[in-house]
Amino acid sequence: MDALIDRFHRRIEYVRVSVTDRCDLRCTYCLPKGFKEFDEPEGWLTFDEIERILRVFVRLGVHRVRITGGEPLVRRNVVDLVSRLAGLGIPDLSLSTNGVRLARLARPLRAAGVSRLNVSLDSLRPDRFSEITGGGRLRKVCDGLMAAKSAGFSPIKINTVAMRGVNDDEFEDLIEFCIVHGFMWRLIETMPIGSTGRAAQKQYLDLQSVRLRLAERYDLVPVVVPGGGPARYLRVSGTDLVIGFITPISQHFCETCNRVRLAADGTLYLCLGQEHSVDLRALLRADASDEALAETIVAAVGLKPERHEFHEFPQKIMRLMARTGG
Ligand code: SAM
Repeated sequence: MDALIDRFHRRIEYVRVSVTDRCDLRCTYCLPKGFKEFDEPEGWLTFDEIERILRVFVRLGVHRVRITGGEPLVRRNVVDLVSRLAGLGIPDLSLSTNGVRLARLARPLRAAGVSRLNVSLDSLRPDRFSEITGGGRLRKVCDGLMAAKSAGFSPIKINTVAMRGVNDDEFEDLIEFCIVHGFMWRLIETMPIGSTGRAAQKQYLDLQSVRLRLAERYDLVPVVVPGGGPARYLRVSGTDLVIGFITPISQHFCETCNRVRLAADGTLYLCLGQEHSVDLRALLRADASDEALAETIVAAVGLKPERHEFHEFPQKIMRLMARTGG
């Protein structure tokens, strides 16, 4: 079997694997306050099942895998899963985390084979950070970031969701923080996913306007970042800082989408902003062969829609990002 190519001639070479829909934070734009309808852990794919699905994806040409969630570091023994996936020979094995548990886990994750880390950080002010994250402690994330640095991760990407009236007065502080510590910084437009649709619309900030604002203070030079994904990158001249702007709303990048998402319960989602999906867990638990699994994945890729429709139907997707795998 060879490459996975969809109806729109896009080559699928990247899988995001959510290992749990649970999280130890409650970011306002992600998980609704008091949300309790998580999957039961018995419903999650086992490590054997995840490894088996990924082995088939690798045979089909996938060479990038990101472990995510929910918060992947709340899944027990996640480091063992990393070792198993690294054993499949995936050249680019990365992980997204909120950083809360990174101080203890950075070194083991690196030793197990994680090559790159993304850490979410929306504010550098402890009170505000706590408000945005539903009680999170900024200190823990900062300790986690320093541990990741000393474990040798490079680059470390900081992901910030841009929110009008919430953290848009902190972008310059975040830039200075990233310059001092040698992190890459990526700013993301709030997407109207889950139950946050209305709030997300109010907080939405068009990143073109942020770029213009930052250009008044910094000399920003466009750069190409190999493997940099859908972000548009600018270097702050005179520094090593590269800033990525991820604009799913104001300038979507669906025509270059190269990914699919495996949820913790084994549902394969073909698009973050559409419902097209296939249940791989049912297939595995009915003793399907690797051939049958590969055929199902090829057929699923054939369902991949052309694009999301956040712009036209902002309330459309009620599925939470924590469920799909961010
Ligand atoms: N827990 C991990 C983390 O914090 O990075 C991984 C999962 S989290 C769902 C992945 C990313 O999705 C985070 O950077 C988060 O900020 C982003 N995210 C969640 N909901 C979002 C939304 N409505 N709009 C934009 N980004 C969102």
